[in-house]
Amino acid sequence: MVQTLRSPVRGMLIDSRQRPLRDLRISVTDRCNFRCVYCMPKEVFGRDYKFMPSAQLLTFEEITRLARIFVAHGVKKIRLTGGEPLVRSDIEKLVAMLAQIEGLEDLALTTNGSLLARKARALKDAGLRRISVSLDALDNGIFQSMNDVGFPVEHVLEGIEAAAAAGLAPIKVNMVVKRSINRHCIVDMARYFHAAGHILRIIEFMDVGHTNGWNMDEVVPAAEVIALINAELPLEPFPPNYPGEVATRFRYKDGSGEVGVIASVTEPFCPSCTRARLSSDGKLFTCLFGIVGTDFRTPLRLGKSDEELSELLRSAWTVRADRYSEIRSSRTAALSKVEMSYIGG
Ligand code: SAM
Ligand code: SF4
Ligand code: SF4
Repeated sequence: MVQTLRSPVRGMLIDSRQRPLRDLRISVTDRCNFRCVYCMPKEVFGRDYKFMPSAQLLTFEEITRLARIFVAHGVKKIRLTGGEPLVRSDIEKLVAMLAQIEGLEDLALTTNGSLLARKARALKDAGLRRISVSLDALDNGIFQSMNDVGFPVEHVLEGIEAAAAAGLAPIKVNMVVKRSINRHCIVDMARYFHAAGHILRIIEFMDVGHTNGWNMDEVVPAAEVIALINAELPLEPFPPNYPGEVATRFRYKDGSGEVGVIASVTEPFCPSCTRARLSSDGKLFTCLFGIVGTDFRTPLRLGKSDEELSELLRSAWTVRADRYSEIRSSRTAALSKVEMSYIGG
């Protein structure tokens, strides 16, 4: 049922472009142990950078309460992200709390993999269903120049294998491509993860935030990525898992495995975007390129009821008209935007 009445406690929500609320990304921290050049460049996120004090972060109880309300309003999938979600202490406890929510069909997490070898089993036991691991190159020098903290590839690969051994396979591996740095690593990545049985997803470098020095010349269009892989490992198109899936999927013609591209810049998917984002301090953004978030932490801490929080969600989602990627232009690119490490990708 489409709920448009006042004070709904449950009921699907539809925005002004007829898009339902289906997915929620929850950022559990703005901190990270990497300084990826396209996300948290050191010149900005240096030693003096002021991260959020822990009292400003939503507690696990607050996150779970909000998640329950979102699920009552149509959310089927939750993904935990950050910053780096595994640097938040006891993250597996939050996973266990969210896994109990009735009506939630999928619970996933995106990580840089640095702490995964230690955490994979506990995450799986807590009820995590799926994991995505970000890795931009297999070449250590290139990877280290992208994470900019000298973190070695082999520890991320150990994390991926620990996750697979814990039962989180198939794992999705996210690779962001910057033309001048790692375009030449694409085919090696495809070959390696094809053989390993994991799913590589190649992401176009996006103009999120203001600090990553984005420029269109650095974007390698998804069509170019697919042509590069297809020349070495023949591919054929593969239908989406569900309507509105952000990745465009291809299957290896040898019948084993798939690869996907996320063409957020060259082929925007705004018309089917059903995703909301909750920042670690409790602001709801209805677009990755949002400017103003709706504050849920204040009402939570003022003791507002579920009905009142539901009403806040209803009023934020039903007026939603976001389609930033469709109308990307020099003017909109110059507008104020939130940082990826704050909102979680
Ligand atoms: N720290 C975790 C990680 O790296 O997986 C989770 C947070 S990170 C912000 C989520 C995803 O956003 C990662 O896969 C990362 O590669 C991607 N990302 C960050 N900045 C990006 C950018 N400018 N363009 C495209 N993807 C980006
Ligand atoms: Fe950290 Fe992830 Fe951003 Fe890299 S992409 S700096 S790992 S939050
Ligand atoms: Fe969704 Fe905004 Fe991205 Fe468009 S630009 S797909 S509305 S998050």
